[in-house]
Amino acid sequence: MTSPVFERIAIIGCGLIGGSISRAAQEKVAAGAVSLFDADPAVLSRAAEIGLGEARSTVAEAVADADAVFLCVPVGAMREAGGAAIGAMRPGSILTDVGSVKGSVARELRSLAKPGIHIIPGHPIAGTEKSGPDAAFGSLFEGRWCILTPDAAGDADYKAASERLALFWERLGSKVDQMDAQRHDLVLAVTSHLPHLIAYNIVATAHDMESVEEGDVVKYSAAGFRDFTRIAASDPTMWRDVFLNNKEAVLEVLGRFDDDLTALRKAIRRGDGETLFNVFTHARGIRRSIIEAGQDTAAANFGRDTDGKK
Ligand code: NAP
Repeated sequence: MTSPVFERIAIIGCGLIGGSISRAAQEKVAAGAVSLFDADPAVLSRAAEIGLGEARSTVAEAVADADAVFLCVPVGAMREAGGAAIGAMRPGSILTDVGSVKGSVARELRSLAKPGIHIIPGHPIAGTEKSGPDAAFGSLFEGRWCILTPDAAGDADYKAASERLALFWERLGSKVDQMDAQRHDLVLAVTSHLPHLIAYNIVATAHDMESVEEGDVVKYSAAGFRDFTRIAASDPTMWRDVFLNNKEAVLEVLGRFDDDLTALRKAIRRGDGETLFNVFTHARGIRRSIIEAGQDTAAANFGRDTDGKK
């Protein structure tokens, strides 16, 4: 019989990610037991009711007997949640998180350091536009990357703890990578944060146009627009915190995006079909490589019915 990687884990924040870690850990025997805490009592009791773990009434109670504590709260709440947890954690245990930004969160968590507690920031690159415990599912992390940003100066005990945490994520079905927090934030600014900003912006623009076009934007949304609306349906609190906490990297990437957009605008104005064709051909190749890497489906229209109703 498989033995769990951790006897007990604590999940602080029982939403989509915390709930999915809990489900996956139980289904795949990565944890023997799960303690839960959420700032919202209704969320906490719902999470326990649907089998995500055992509800505890304070953070301290949730973490006291855990081998690993997962902070699954919005990035802006990491410091508060980490501060409430670390004092009650037992020596040798791991404090980790799932925040979408790593530089600021790693700094905040490390400022709380307590001897004997291994602080190992992390970020599973998996999610949906949904929130809350009912959105959680156990296969969320399968085949997805999880990035850990451990302290390079950590001692042998710390390295062993990092390996154990990597094993936990692998047990959930993830592929694990390690990198420094700065690199993580730049890479994610390109692959996740900028696309969300574009989606939020395009939906705002279309909403302004809707009053001019009298319903036609929604009616013909299957032409491409609706794929942006899915991303733009993501949680506003989470994304506000991402942009506030990854400011430098997002602004750097946004600058490059502006330059490329200006080049496209000029090509359209000049009637420069060759430039447009070359940029679009290159982009198509990138899409192909994402499918080859197993990071998306090759099915037409993302596997939706061809009539576009699904
Ligand atoms: P979520 O579904 O909204 O769940 C977060 C939960 O944490 C909410 O129930 C929230 O309660 C609670 N919470 C807030 N502050 C707290 C505190 N101080 N102590 C305890 N609980 C607290 O959010 P999520 O989508 O799971 O995201 C959680 C984290 O995962 C974020 O840091 C996000 O950046 C990261 N992440 C998200 C995705 C994604 O696609 N969603 C992917 C990878 C990583 P209230 O609602 O009452 O505030």
